[in-house]
Amino acid sequence: MKIVSLSSMDKQFITNLKLSLNSAQKVVIIPHKNPDGDALGSALAWMHFLLEKNHEAIIISPNDYPDFLKWLPGENSILKYTIYPKEVRKKLEEATLIFTLDFNVLSRCGDLEPLVKKSSAHKIMIDHHENPGSYAFLKYSDPKMSSTCEMIYHLINSLDKNLFLPKIAQCLYTGIMTDTGSFRYPATTSATHRAIAHLVEEGADGDQIHQKIYDSSSFSRLKLLGITLSNMTQIKDLPIVYLTLSQEELNSCGYKKGDTEGFVNYGLSLDGITFSCIMIENESDGIIKMSFRSQGDFSVNDFARTFFNGGGHHNAAGGMSELSLQETILQFQQAIKEIKNKF
Ligand code: 5GP
Ligand code: MN
Repeated sequence: MKIVSLSSMDKQFITNLKLSLNSAQKVVIIPHKNPDGDALGSALAWMHFLLEKNHEAIIISPNDYPDFLKWLPGENSILKYTIYPKEVRKKLEEATLIFTLDFNVLSRCGDLEPLVKKSSAHKIMIDHHENPGSYAFLKYSDPKMSSTCEMIYHLINSLDKNLFLPKIAQCLYTGIMTDTGSFRYPATTSATHRAIAHLVEEGADGDQIHQKIYDSSSFSRLKLLGITLSNMTQIKDLPIVYLTLSQEELNSCGYKKGDTEGFVNYGLSLDGITFSCIMIENESDGIIKMSFRSQGDFSVNDFARTFFNGGGHHNAAGGMSELSLQETILQFQQAIKEIKNKF
């Protein structure tokens, strides 16, 4: 197996990380709000690794996540802040190390932000998004990486190759698979495939993981997909589409968290379309949650940061609006007018 060479900066990170892990630590691992396969897969793999190394380690999630992630090994030990606020506060007060995984600005951990800021624990960021913030004591930030799971893979490879236990392999495979759109997005490199090959050798079952993640749709999810696709609109003379879902439409199908995951990608499956946006009304949070996907040169990270208070990656980003759904659609159309010369 060819070993991936890490940059000198990453080697420095590993040296410092080793120092931090030399003595027993009380570790809290935090994925971003509304965690996805990569956030949870990396957090769980890292928790299993640290437990094997005799540290105390728990995962605190800002909130709940979709059912299709609830089979991941160790998932039932995750403390959700929305459900156990008292226990979470106590764990954060006691923590000596906090790992923040799959995000790089503290606002991405939602209501946990003030608690993390207040904590005296050293914060360590492991993340692959662009424009990292500066809250961390140690930082492993690499936007070229396919996923945070691939970064955790490289870390474990450097720290202790014997610890690719089957449960760790399952978690890491899951996050690499979901963040690369099943190994197809441009950030998928030969090193990603080598990591995956190694994880399969160590017990990750690709067929089973694909089924658990992608073939577990509920009736409500597919009905919602039908509504979303019938709401799809193309911006005149541009390779851009947007999709919408109102709260009423969500309610009419008995919406559950996670049901709309991946819907935005259908826009890109249209011939010639290179920018797709979905706007989903969330009445209880009083916002419209937006997701953006692009193919090629157009940076949805820049677009989300400029117009919708968000961010992410070059080809996949998110943001939000506090206007109504109709007003958000108008705001989106207006934003497109400002950047249409890029197409
Ligand atoms: P999704 O559209 O799947 O929610 O997110 C796509 C990518 O953009 C993910 O990598 C996610 O972490 C990032 N992202 C989503 N929403 C936001 C947001 O509101 N702010 C920032 N900074 N990043 C986001
Ligand atoms: Mn990720």
